Amino acid sequence: MKKLLPTSTAGSLPKPSWLAQPETLWSPWKLEGDELAAGKQDALSLSLQEQQQAGIDIVSDGEQSRQHFVTTFIEHLDGVDFEQRETVRIRDRYDASVPTVKSAVSRQKPVFVEDAKFLRQQTQQPIKWALPGPMTMIDTLYDAHYKSREKLAWEFAKILNQEAKELEAAGVDIIQFDEPAFNVFFDEVNDWGIATLERAIEGLKCETAVHICYGYGIKANTDWKKTLGNEWRQYEEIFPKLQQSNLDIISLECQNSRVPMELLELVRGKKVMVGAIDVATHTIETPEQVADTLRKALQFVDADKLCPCTNCGMAPLPRHVARGKLQALSAGAEIVRRELAG
Ligand SMILES: [Zn+2]
Repeated sequence: MKKLLPTSTAGSLPKPSWLAQPETLWSPWKLEGDELAAGKQDALSLSLQEQQQAGIDIVSDGEQSRQHFVTTFIEHLDGVDFEQRETVRIRDRYDASVPTVKSAVSRQKPVFVEDAKFLRQQTQQPIKWALPGPMTMIDTLYDAHYKSREKLAWEFAKILNQEAKELEAAGVDIIQFDEPAFNVFFDEVNDWGIATLERAIEGLKCETAVHICYGYGIKANTDWKKTLGNEWRQYEEIFPKLQQSNLDIISLECQNSRVPMELLELVRGKKVMVGAIDVATHTIETPEQVADTLRKALQFVDADKLCPCTNCGMAPLPRHVARGKLQALSAGAEIVRRELAG
């Protein structure tokens, strides 16, 4: 019988300090050339071991070989000029200098497939691989070519589908698309956001997930959260259509968030990765706090469809904090597993 409440993480985990500056987004690499390539592989193995030691069931590469969850993928594509930068407003929230789309976008070679094969060789456990979603990709670029968010999203969806099919062939069990932009542009999500994601997963036999969060624990995000009021109902806008979609799993932010748990009823039938670890604080949750969040979620998610998870990626956290949080996640899940068995 399959293990109940398999634990997982939303995505990134901290990198070792010999590979990149800790506690920093877009942290520059500390190695170059062949040393960097070898260093990324060592960090991937280390990250896997840390997840295993913490008792995580569905493991990942901890995103050790990428500088950023969106830009690293885009860097490998043709049509985007990283020298020509423009300042744009990201997620309708903060300004950032981003690369420019100058001609038709395309993928000439695989981006993460070798890394996925390397991870697959090292474990029999189910593995999950994260890719950026189309809407979040276009929201992190200046488009001087298509001049249409929707058109560019469809182009990225085709490219993501090529990559996803090769990741599946490399033995990835779950392919996850990160779409924090889904929490901001509700009309676009319903008009074409979910449709482009379905294009990205076309023909896949492995499980597919979409991760929708309130962002890393950086100041622009925590300031934004303060403006959202006592009840965060953003998910309500997009859940009905997501429930009808072909995606298998929805990954959500539930720990210390003001998302009313009953909104999960709107995606009943889907698997839910319930965020039970807050990534915006260094305070490590107790197993009982994790268990409490999972119990609340179980009112609206069937037990065989619930995966305890983190709210978002943990790249910006100190390593010992991330390790402690992973252990708390496992221990909290185990408390609830025993309750369900009893
Ligand atoms: Zn996230």
